[in-house]
Amino acid sequence: MAADVKEIIRAARGRGSNSLDEPVGKELLASFGIRVPASRVVTSPEELPSAVAALKPPYVLKVVSDEVVHKSDFGAVKVGLKDLAAVERALTEINAALDAKRIGARRWLIEEMAAPGIEVVVGGVVDPEFGPMIMTGLGGVFVEVMKDVAFRICPITRADAAEMLSELRGAALLHGARGRAPVSTDAVIDVLLKIGGENGLLTNSADEIAEIDINPLLVTSDAATAVDARFILQKTAKR
Ligand code: ADP
Ligand code: MG
Repeated sequence: MAADVKEIIRAARGRGSNSLDEPVGKELLASFGIRVPASRVVTSPEELPSAVAALKPPYVLKVVSDEVVHKSDFGAVKVGLKDLAAVERALTEINAALDAKRIGARRWLIEEMAAPGIEVVVGGVVDPEFGPMIMTGLGGVFVEVMKDVAFRICPITRADAAEMLSELRGAALLHGARGRAPVSTDAVIDVLLKIGGENGLLTNSADEIAEIDINPLLVTSDAATAVDARFILQKTAKR
């Protein structure tokens, strides 16, 4: 597993990149046992039919581009696509939105749509003083507006991860507040451990990885799926 990380990061650096794009980031998460949607990368509209045929509907289509960090802001994420025709229309729309901003798209990620659930954020940063640190919070306004997040220094234990979730002000949402079904906190805890636990991805690779952002991790009653992933690499690998 550790070899995968080094290889994936070396390849990205070889392409002159200081980040991992979404498909590569998700491959890395998957190699650590974190669930990601089944997906295909296409580099032309002609590749869509076979990609669609290999996946189960509904589909999500997104652009993959270094120039587009917050894809939704660019109109470059389309969800709930039922069939090939819908995916083809979505591609046309995404390209038109990007053309208007003079961004030339060359690659798109088509993936299966994860079941609806609660959106959680899992992040990691490498602090100059404390080293690798893991963060979690509830998605959307909870993180962005209310700053309702919990941080710990890595490595964390299972008890630390559970405590991180329970100290969130919005924790009740995970347990089924407001008439919603409760979601699996165990699935979130597993992801926190796979990133920031002993031998976790960030814990072990803080010399290579500067930042991890899983936003969102979509959590249902029995699973947690990383539907977006962004990695920023250390400027030069620290030894
Ligand atoms: P952005 O770069 O804008 O953060 P995301 O990849 O996070 O783009 O997609 C935007 C939103 O679309 C997500 O917050 C999530 O609600 C939804 N989404 C994206 N991919 C999937 C997926 N595979 N399954 C279900 N929902 C998804
Ligand atoms: Mg996102």
